[in-house]
Amino acid sequence: NAAVLRVRGLNVDYQTKKGAAKALKDIDFAIHAGERVGLVGESGCGKSTLLKTIMGVLPKNGDVTSGRIELDGVNLLEVDDETRRKARWAEVAMITQSALNALNPVRRVGDQIIEAVRAHRPIDKQEANALVHRLFEMVGVAPERARDYPHQFSGGMRQRAVIAMALALSPKMIVADEPTTALDVIVQDQIFARLRELQAENQFALILVTHDLALVAENCQRVMVMYAGTLVESGPTEEVIAAPKHPYTIGLINAVSVLGSDKQPISIPGSPPDLMEKIDGCRFAQRCPLATSICKDQMPEAVVIASPGGERMVRCHHWQQAEDFALRASNPDV
Ligand code: ATP
Ligand code: MG
Repeated sequence: NAAVLRVRGLNVDYQTKKGAAKALKDIDFAIHAGERVGLVGESGCGKSTLLKTIMGVLPKNGDVTSGRIELDGVNLLEVDDETRRKARWAEVAMITQSALNALNPVRRVGDQIIEAVRAHRPIDKQEANALVHRLFEMVGVAPERARDYPHQFSGGMRQRAVIAMALALSPKMIVADEPTTALDVIVQDQIFARLRELQAENQFALILVTHDLALVAENCQRVMVMYAGTLVESGPTEEVIAAPKHPYTIGLINAVSVLGSDKQPISIPGSPPDLMEKIDGCRFAQRCPLATSICKDQMPEAVVIASPGGERMVRCHHWQQAEDFALRASNPDV
C-alpha cells in the first residue's frame, strides 16, 4: 500500500519576541492510501502546527527549518506557491474545529462550495448544481438547504457543510483538526459514522486530530501520539491502547476515565517543557517515572517493532521496561 503522504525529518520553529520556540522536532511518519490515522496528545503539543505545516498555512512567524513533506513523492516544501495552492484542497483538504470560521456568513452555503471548486477548475452552472446536490446527499443534509446561509444551519449541519466542501474536489487526503469538539456527543457520533462511510466509499486517507482517545479507538486504524513537538509512539490503535510502549502513552491512557469501571483516572504529574528551552534529551524526561541520565542527555531514536497489525514505532530509551511499568500503573497489586 503506497504512502500518500510522507513526512521526513520535519522541524518547525515559531519566532517570538523571546526567541525561537521549537514546535515540531524531528517528525517522521507516513500515511497510506485510504488509511484513517488518529493524532493525539495534550494541548500545545503541536498537533495543529503539524496539520498547518502539511497544508502550507503556517502563520507568518512559523518557519520550517528542515525536512520534507512528500505528497505522492513530490516535496511540497520545494514546489512554487501556485502548485502548492493547487495541492491544497484538491489533493489535501482540511476540516477545522470551527466550521463557523470556514464559512462566509453572507454567502449561501451551496455557492461557497461552488466557489471553492471554481478556484481549482472550471465548472458550469448545471454541473455545479448537480455537484452540490450530490455532496449534500453524501454528508446527509437535504440538498435544497444549499440555498441557505450558514446562520440558518445548526452546528452539526455547518460541520457537515464543511465536510462537503472538503470532499468537493475528491482529495486524496483529509486532515481534520478536532472537527466535532464544538458539537454534542450524539451529533458528533452521527458525523463520524457518516465520515467513516464516506471514507470507505471514496478511499481518501484521513488524519484525525483529537484529545479523545475513545474517538480514535472507534474511528482510526492507526494512532500517532505526540508529546511536546515529537512523535513518541505510533502503531495499530488497538495494539497501542492495549499495550502502550511509551511512558507518555501509558500516562495518557491512565488519564482516561472508563465508564462503569472503578479505576480512577490518574493524570500525569508535571507539565510539558518550555519549547524555547534547548532540550538535548527526551522531551518527556522531566515527567517520566522511568527516566535515567541518558534520557536527559540524548533524544531517543525511533525504534520500529514488527507487530501483528503492521508496525509500531516508539521513541524511548526504556521502552522494553515500559510494558511492566504499564501493568503496575494500571494495577497497583501486581
Ligand atoms: P491544542 O490541542 O490546544 O489545539 P496543539 O497540539 O494543536 O494544541 P499547537 O497549536 O500546534 O498545539 O501549538 C504548539 C505550540 O506552539 C504551543 O506551545 C503553542 O503555544 C505554540 N504556538 C502555536 N502557534 C504559535 C504562534 N503563532 N506563535 C508562537 N507560538 C505558537
Ligand atoms: Mg490544535
